[in-house]
Amino acid sequence: MNIPELADKIITQDRRALARAITLIESTKPAHRAQAAELMEALRRSDHQAIRIGLSGTPGVGKSTFIESFGMMLTAQGLRVAVLAVDPSSARSGGSILGDKTRMERLSRDPGAFIRPSPSQTHLGGVARRTREAVAVCEAAGFDVVLIETVGVGQSETVVAEMSDLFILLLAPAGGDELQGVKRGIMEMADVILVNKADGDLKPAATRTCSDYAGALRLLRKRPQDPEGFPKALMVSAVEEHGLDKAWEEMTTLTGWRRENGHFDTRRAEQARYWFEQEVRHSLLARLETPEAKAAMQDIAGQVAEGRIVPSLAAQEMLAKLRD
Ligand code: GDP
Repeated sequence: MNIPELADKIITQDRRALARAITLIESTKPAHRAQAAELMEALRRSDHQAIRIGLSGTPGVGKSTFIESFGMMLTAQGLRVAVLAVDPSSARSGGSILGDKTRMERLSRDPGAFIRPSPSQTHLGGVARRTREAVAVCEAAGFDVVLIETVGVGQSETVVAEMSDLFILLLAPAGGDELQGVKRGIMEMADVILVNKADGDLKPAATRTCSDYAGALRLLRKRPQDPEGFPKALMVSAVEEHGLDKAWEEMTTLTGWRRENGHFDTRRAEQARYWFEQEVRHSLLARLETPEAKAAMQDIAGQVAEGRIVPSLAAQEMLAKLRD
């Protein structure tokens, strides 16, 4: 594959090239990994910057409905929207939360939108690293907004936040004790909390939930990278398409403020450092997974078990083998 040519096509917004690039990025073959790295380096030429929005919420809160309505609103404004996913459940189901073609049907037909399901790899770390590169490719391909969806089940929020400029938590209206359902760590990551389904019979419960979360957010420590009033809780209805424009306005206010105050670039720089470290760690661990390394591990472990060599010295021997 001619990587410089592929990069050129991506930058001139060729969709087929974009899809090919993401397929390349998702490949685990070593030769493809090297090409993907070359591609990422080549794409740095593009100075187009998107707003990267991480969106998390438990199944059923309305993520796909929201992304569709919100995405359509943005494309109607002439913005180009890419939707990617980090799916921690893919390891279990072998499928993907975005694999179902019926999800976001209208948005997927919208020429201003690009939707890509979560790569089906077994490790969250692997999915996350690939998705992070896919985000950068979409950005180079001229998308204005990149939405990265994840199901809120724990660790995946953290990795999505590490590739996003903004982190949005989507919630549904609930009864009295629902605040406990959201872990403090996730609350602290959120820049904006959106209480969805604020319509019909659910409106009063949504209003209560929203004010509960607004109260909880006020108790969190004020973050230096935020202007007054953030993080915020707002009500939306993805079905009735209410509050979406207000939500977008808040998001652009926050990113605008962060840009002006240097926090936007600082965050991206910290994220680049984070992903570099992740990549190094992952590559080191991957060396343990080759057949030769596994055989050597087993052999040396056997010697340790038999008391022929102490564990620390055995470990050094193993590391020396990995270096060769
Ligand atoms: P996801 O699992 O988070 O992607 O949730 P879905 O988008 O599939 O929505 C789950 C259910 O909630 C569906 O039955 C939707 O029709 C419903 N839903 C989503 N958004 C709204 C909304 O704004 N109002 C109401 N009343 N229902 C909604």
